[in-house]
Amino acid sequence: MRALVVEDELKMAALLRRGLLEEGYAVDVVPNGSEAVVRASATEYDAIVLDVMLPGMDGFEVCRRLRGIGVWSPVIMLTARDAVADRVAGLDLGADDYLTKPFSFAELLARLRALVRRGPVERPPVLEVGSLRLDPTTREVWRGEAEIDLSAKEFALLETLMCRTGQVVSRFDLLEHAWDYAYENRSNVVDVYIRYLREKIDRPFGVSSIETIRGAGYRLRKDGGV
Ligand code: CA
Repeated sequence: MRALVVEDELKMAALLRRGLLEEGYAVDVVPNGSEAVVRASATEYDAIVLDVMLPGMDGFEVCRRLRGIGVWSPVIMLTARDAVADRVAGLDLGADDYLTKPFSFAELLARLRALVRRGPVERPPVLEVGSLRLDPTTREVWRGEAEIDLSAKEFALLETLMCRTGQVVSRFDLLEHAWDYAYENRSNVVDVYIRYLREKIDRPFGVSSIETIRGAGYRLRKDGGV
């Protein structure tokens, strides 16, 4: 069994690592969300222990991205606050369980055993923004009733924008999410593909959904460009 621990606090990370090793897990530890996404998409973990409070991308966002790219490893979130809103947010974004810090290690292990027994459960969230719909599992995209044929890169770009609707996403972030490690590091590649994307999801429908934010990146309108 292999577990991924996502925790930036060194003491807590070491504690989790030691406890899980004793329980017979192989354990990888990463200190932030972007490394967690990279690791979890490359390796099929039997369980992911995900702290909510992380520098940069928080645990909620990590969970949302993992489910968005089809990673279904069981996720248990560690929340610092006993806030109902936090727990609901975590579960809504695809977490399987949560524990409030401080927690007993025995309880964490018991919860993990239950999750690992159950295994990964696919609950693909279909992304919807206005009349745009994207299904990460079937890799289909629609504008209203019309299905749109996108290339793999266009699909990845749109998926990234839809996961962060209403937020400005930098060219760098788009490169990082839509291109693999071998990409040519030229930001105009993104501009070219954004143009292709607009030609497919906007222009034929007489709408404009992707805004260019000068010097910052791109933003998908919350209304989906209706
Ligand atoms: Ca933390």
